[in-house]
Amino acid sequence: MSWNIWGHTLAETEDWIVRNGFPRFRAKQIQDYLYHRYVYDFDEMKQLPGAMREWLKENTVISKPQIINQLQSDDKNTTKLLLKLSDGSLVETVCMHHDYGNSICASTQVGCAMGCVFCASTFDGMKRNLDASEILAQVFAFKQHFDIPVHSIVLMGAGEPLTNYENVLRFIRLCNDPDILNISLRNITLSTCGIVPQIYRLAEEGLPITLAISLHAPNDMIRNQIMPISNSYKIEDVINAARYFYNKTGRRVTFEYILIKDVNASADNANELCRLIGNLNCHINLIPVNGTEHIQLYPPEADEVKKFQMILEKHGRTTTVRKQMGDKIQAACGQLKRRYLKN
Ligand code: SF4
Repeated sequence: MSWNIWGHTLAETEDWIVRNGFPRFRAKQIQDYLYHRYVYDFDEMKQLPGAMREWLKENTVISKPQIINQLQSDDKNTTKLLLKLSDGSLVETVCMHHDYGNSICASTQVGCAMGCVFCASTFDGMKRNLDASEILAQVFAFKQHFDIPVHSIVLMGAGEPLTNYENVLRFIRLCNDPDILNISLRNITLSTCGIVPQIYRLAEEGLPITLAISLHAPNDMIRNQIMPISNSYKIEDVINAARYFYNKTGRRVTFEYILIKDVNASADNANELCRLIGNLNCHINLIPVNGTEHIQLYPPEADEVKKFQMILEKHGRTTTVRKQMGDKIQAACGQLKRRYLKN
């Protein structure tokens, strides 16, 4: 079977090249073609000798997904790609153009098993984990197609990253690799719905990444209504795991909180959230829910959002209200894929 040469460190590519009788320095040239010049056709790798190019064609593949749909918001600040993987699976990936640079939101699984009621990615369950090279290819789909620099990565697309632990950790290290993306670990955010044992495990890795936890409720009762994972892990245990992560890494944790009208967005809910979090050093990102034809949940009025935010800030919490980037292009997780499949 052909070796997929995409998604390896320089040392791994060197090892493969040397084991097959080629000089070590050729690996660096190959890495340069793949990750800096976006050359994915061995015939175009002209620095390599012809015989080596022929051998590569016969013995290796460059397994990259195909872009099958692309949408851009009217203000051009959000672009979404629908990608087809080698087995025909579809994944979404989004690029958000911020003042400080381009941020890519990548998927870590095909679908998701977690069942959050506000998320279209979970409607058909989870098909499989993505391997590190497939997650990396999402970033390069933007880099290559639009020839843009990438400032940061957020693992907030389809899938629960902490149930695909090894592949996600490998992906993070590939992003940080100077020969591949050279993205600072501080510019990588991993978002989890709160897989408590894996948060403890991640804390032990010593990686100064940002951990974002989808909390979305101030207590177990409300969380149970919208996030089935709360049947497995109590909200107090999620907070304790977040505290452990902060103590271990020194990295302030972000709590994501989707605001849903008549579910979790009242003043009482805001006060209870402050009590729950206590003195933990954290940031709270408020996200008015992105209601769609698939998801019959509604965001609170703007003044309710403001009031919720003011209560948190009165208690000394730093907060942001997430900009609704890309509503019109179905930027919320899973919606573009569903529309494509439906059509
Ligand atoms: S919000 Fe995240 S964890 Fe929840 S179902 Fe969607 S992809 Fe999965």
